[in-house]
Amino acid sequence: MTLASHYSSSRCAISFELFPPKTPAGMQALVKNVKRLTEFGPSYFTCTYGAGGSTRGTTLDVVEQVKRVTGLPVASHLTCVGSTVDQLADYLVEASQRGAEYIVALRGDPPKGSDRFEAVEGGLRYANELVELIRQRFAGLGIAVAGYPEVHQEAPDAKTDLDNLKRKVDAGADIVVSQLFYNNDDFYRFRDACVAAGISIPIVPGILPVTNYKQAERIAAMCKAAIPASLANAMSENDDEDYQFNVGVEHARAQTVDLIENNAAGIHYYVLNKSEAAAKMLDGLELATG
Ligand code: FAD
Repeated sequence: MTLASHYSSSRCAISFELFPPKTPAGMQALVKNVKRLTEFGPSYFTCTYGAGGSTRGTTLDVVEQVKRVTGLPVASHLTCVGSTVDQLADYLVEASQRGAEYIVALRGDPPKGSDRFEAVEGGLRYANELVELIRQRFAGLGIAVAGYPEVHQEAPDAKTDLDNLKRKVDAGADIVVSQLFYNNDDFYRFRDACVAAGISIPIVPGILPVTNYKQAERIAAMCKAAIPASLANAMSENDDEDYQFNVGVEHARAQTVDLIENNAAGIHYYVLNKSEAAAKMLDGLELATG
């Protein structure tokens, strides 16, 4: 099944994003949680690629394991950080051999302490170049690219960022997956702007069910996603773990319901290898678009 075709039915296609665990125990927990998440009928899973290629092998271990356990398509994320074109191509060969059907094609972040991304000699400067590489040499792989409802932190303005997103689409991306956000209006504005710019591939919102206030603040700062005052106030008014978990999950559930009502093509969930919050958030929801 092609990546874009998951988004062609009236059902809101969901996908779950995982990251490579550091230990065998972490991998065991991941497999257990993936089995539980599968009960919610995801279309596919994805696994992130660590900064500077640090998880190269483990990302593909997760791809293989999740495919074996679920029988579903699995995407490997891939960044340009620290790799030459030849190294990226080698990874893509290995990813295909180990069962990845889709690639989330990314530039990656600048190294810690630097606010500028530098391509290595013989490497790529922007994600659109990685999309071109995949399209030219790995035609069978589906391609997702990243989009930023609240504008990428390095972009001078929303218009420039959108022009750059369009380059990735024109280079051959199949879908756009958005950075996480807490206010759906930010996503709707972004989606409208994409459509106005002539982007006609599915634009999939990314949602992270936060489970405690400190985590919400940390992730929001890292991803430059604003936390609405209502969520910040509700979460910070009580230190109790269960209370904060319930407030965070309820917010993500309300975002989900609203996105479905507003004809989201699908929803990509950043589940951080866990299943409890996702299960509570999705329990009993009709995942059909209006
Ligand atoms: P690009 O699309 O290349 O954009 C980077 C910046 O350059 C933007 O400001 C853009 O406006 C500008 N730009 C783009 N193209 C051009 C051009 N041709 N000329 C001039 N300017 C241009 N990081 C990881 O390390 N591992 C992961 O697995 C990972 N997964 C992610 C998944 C999703 C869905 C998202 C939203 C992000 C993910 N990230 C991941 C984070 C991502 O690597 C960072 O946000 C990174 O800073 C930008 O990557 P990009 O692919 O969006 O870059």
